[in-house]
Amino acid sequence: MKCPKCGHDEDKVVDSRPSQDNSAIRRRRECLECKERFTTYEYVEQGTLTVTKSDNRREPYDKYKLLYGIKLACNKRPVTPKEIEAMASEIELQIKGKNKNEISSHAIGEMVMEKLRPIDEIAYVRFASVYRKFKDKEEFLEEMKKLLE
Ligand SMILES: [Zn+2]
Repeated sequence: MKCPKCGHDEDKVVDSRPSQDNSAIRRRRECLECKERFTTYEYVEQGTLTVTKSDNRREPYDKYKLLYGIKLACNKRPVTPKEIEAMASEIELQIKGKNKNEISSHAIGEMVMEKLRPIDEIAYVRFASVYRKFKDKEEFLEEMKKLLE
């Protein structure tokens, strides 16, 4: 953290404690160069979403992956890129509407199936059959590719 007085970028933390309402960590820092003391606050970044997998691994939510999964399921089906984009956006809104920092990959998969079903039965079945079998999303995408080849 850059010193506000001399601009040196090395400091040490001399004190660290939660803020009154526990929503932040307050740190007192001391510049290693000029010994100036200053305070920084550390907050949870709003809008970051973590996807938890069934094997308890976690990864940051990635809209591209969601989109990619839907695209694969809809391969060579009469579903337009616009419809795919719309499904992904609706799912994303649904996820964010839950106002949580975490969502399970299972819950996301269920949402995708819900959206696909009324739009294209084949794409739905493809997604569902592959999705239910796999715990891991990477594995799932691989299998989906094989299915389509
Ligand atoms: Zn300094």
